[in-house]
Amino acid sequence: MTHEHDKRDNLDNDCLEAFDHLYAYLNGELKDQSKVAMIEHHLQHCRSCFSRAEFEREINQRLKKTDTQSPPSSLSERMKKLIDNF
Ligand SMILES: [Zn+2]
Repeated sequence: MTHEHDKRDNLDNDCLEAFDHLYAYLNGELKDQSKVAMIEHHLQHCRSCFSRAEFEREINQRLKKTDTQSPPSSLSERMKKLIDNF
């Protein structure tokens, strides 16, 4: 039986396609309404992509908050210190 294998391949392709447009979707840059609908439909049915999207959205929001609170230079200085301490 190849049916199960076909089903899994289809799911993987849907996930890959959703991932391809996920960042644009989360940033509100995805203008193609059929792709927006495709992603939203996929997220409603695929738990792993849904948690991934939630995770990316959380990161996006935190990055935006950190940007306003502290300049990116302080982060790179902290990184430099961390590397120096190695
Ligand atoms: Zn998926």
